[in-house]
Amino acid sequence: MKHVILLTGISRSGGTILSQLFSKHPDVTSLGELWSFIHGKKKTGQGTEKYCGCGKKYSDCDFWGSIKLEGKSKAEDTLKIYDHANTPFVVDKSNMDHIPAILELYRSKKISLRAVFFIREIGGYSNSRLKSVAGKSKAIQFLYSIFYAYFWRKKNNEILNFLESENIEVFAVGYKQMCEDPQKIFTKIAKFCGLSNIDVYGENKGKSHIAFGNRTKKKTIKVKYDSKWKENPLAVFSSKLPFVRLFEEKVLFKYS
Ligand SMILES: [Zn+2]
Repeated sequence: MKHVILLTGISRSGGTILSQLFSKHPDVTSLGELWSFIHGKKKTGQGTEKYCGCGKKYSDCDFWGSIKLEGKSKAEDTLKIYDHANTPFVVDKSNMDHIPAILELYRSKKISLRAVFFIREIGGYSNSRLKSVAGKSKAIQFLYSIFYAYFWRKKNNEILNFLESENIEVFAVGYKQMCEDPQKIFTKIAKFCGLSNIDVYGENKGKSHIAFGNRTKKKTIKVKYDSKWKENPLAVFSSKLPFVRLFEEKVLFKYS
C-alpha cells in the first residue's frame, strides 16, 4: 500500500518549499499538484506541453511520460499515478478540489494517508494578496486588508476542519518556523510521516516529478524568510485584527 502524504494549505503559504524538502528524500516521489495534472489534462488536452519539475517535458519525463490515464474516475487515475511511483511514499500537493478523490482511496483502504498542513502568517499572506489591488484607492485597499484576513482564517479553518472530520492525522507547519530552521521542522515532519530523517542541505536523492511547481534540479535548497510584509502598514494592520490574531499560534499548537 502506498503511503500518501497530502501536502495541503491555502495558496501562497510556502507549500512549494515543503514540496522541495520532501523531494530530496530517497523514499519519496514528490508529485506536486496532482489535481492540476489530472484536471488540466482533461480540460485542455494540453497537459503534456508544460514542463515537469525534473526539467523535462511531460511527454519525455521518466515518470509522467509513461502514464496512461484512463479517465474513468479521478480516484482511479490518482491511484494509478501513486502506484506508478517506485518509492514507498508519495507527496501529493493537492487542494480542496482534489481531496475528495484522495479520500475515496483512503476510505477504501487503498492508500495510507497523512496530512502535512502548511500555514503562513496572516501578514505575509495579506501582503502577497494586497499586491493585486495595489492600483486601487486607499479605502479599497483598506477593505481588502480586512477581507484577506477574513478569507485567510476561513480557508485555513475549512481545510483543517475537513481533515479532522475525516479523522486524518494532521501535522501543521508554519512558514516562518520552517524558514528559521528547515532541518528541525523536517525532522519533525519525517517522524510524523514515518519517514527516515535526511540532511535537508545534503545531496538530492529524491525522484521528484513535481507537476506545476518549481523545478527541483538544484541540489541546494535556499529557504529565506520573506519579512517584507512588515513594511506594508496594511499587511501589519490585517495581522492585528482580533479575529485572526493568535490563530496561527493556535493551529501550530494544536497540530504539532
Ligand atoms: Zn519528471
